[in-house]
Amino acid sequence: MSVLVYIESPKGKIKKTGYEVAYYGAKVAESLGTECIAVFIGKADDPGSVGKYGVKKIIQVNSGSDLDLDSQIFSSVISKIAVDRGAKIVILSNTSTGKSLTGRIAVRMNAGSVSGANALPDLTHGFTVNKSVFSGKAIAKYTFETENKVISVMGNSVQPIETANAASLESIEISVGKSRMKILERKTSEGIVPLPEAELVVSAGRGMKGPENWGIIEDLAKVLGATTACSRPVADSNWRPHHEHVGQTGVAIRPNLYIAAGISGAIQHLAGVNNSKVIVVINKDPEAPFFKAADYGVVGDLFDVVPKLTESIRKFKQS
Ligand SMILES: Cc1cc2nc3c(=O)[nH]c(=O)nc-3n(C[C@H](O)[C@H](O)[C@H](O)COP(=O)(O)OP(=O)(O)OC[C@H]3O[C@@H](n4cnc5c(N)ncnc54)[C@H](O)[C@@H]3O)c2cc1C
Repeated sequence: MSVLVYIESPKGKIKKTGYEVAYYGAKVAESLGTECIAVFIGKADDPGSVGKYGVKKIIQVNSGSDLDLDSQIFSSVISKIAVDRGAKIVILSNTSTGKSLTGRIAVRMNAGSVSGANALPDLTHGFTVNKSVFSGKAIAKYTFETENKVISVMGNSVQPIETANAASLESIEISVGKSRMKILERKTSEGIVPLPEAELVVSAGRGMKGPENWGIIEDLAKVLGATTACSRPVADSNWRPHHEHVGQTGVAIRPNLYIAAGISGAIQHLAGVNNSKVIVVINKDPEAPFFKAADYGVVGDLFDVVPKLTESIRKFKQS
């Protein structure tokens, strides 16, 4: 019995969450006294790099052509390898790709599945994983009753630690069959890390007064290399695009740093951002609820504070 992890490598680049699932899978395998196998589908620039996180075997699937993500094909390839290699546990990242594959793989393997685990499993009595529920207000514990298990893991749930391991690399050819999906158009935002994967996020709310003032938020994001986000009323008023809206009804994020300027910190907003590692709040109202969730707070006018912060970071980076 082994543990299999699927590593995403869009355009050949391994995502940060890929290293996290490699480490997660290796830790699970270690606890169960077995080995962890990593699977790549299609192009991967440096597949061997996941070996540093405890993976013992790396399988690269070549299809003979460049593959677009097709959940039906990918889930069939991953579950086939899992069955062929005797893996009873399959682990993926809880990204949009991972989410689209988790349920499908579980069905193909007749497995129990949990999407969005946020810590390593507890193996004291069975196999139990935690995930946060009710907008982060509670932690649910799921104990698997099935032999086969499929888990997707939230970003930032583990901090991968390098080991001295070396992993073997095997290339296999799998004929993936014809896709039943046709891509009509592909739109990508070059150079911008998508919100769900961003480690640094600069976000702003109605305190900005209007869309014409967003330049100071974009400047701060640019100097930090951060992705921009916003509160829901800002997106609803078309001040910013809807894909930037974070919160209960928007994107849920877990960056290392979340800077919120002119956002009150309503519970529905916090639901999508309160798993951020460090939260910095800039608000002119010292009673704003967001300060209760903040690691660092600046009471002040954002139109004064944000440009000063940008300038200080710029100077610091140049020094
Ligand atoms: C079912 C439901 C789902 C929802 N889902 C979401 C969601 O997913 N995401 C979300 O964000 N909201 C959501 N909301 C809305 C949420 O309840 C709040 O209304 C919203 O988050 C408030 O946005 P805001 O903080 O930008 O605006 P406001 O509440 O108007 O707050 C603006 C803040 O800016 C500060 N400010 C003003 N001027 C300045 C200045 N010059 N300098 C510094 N600070 C300043 C003010 O003190 C205030 O705290 C939802 C609501 C419902 C009912």
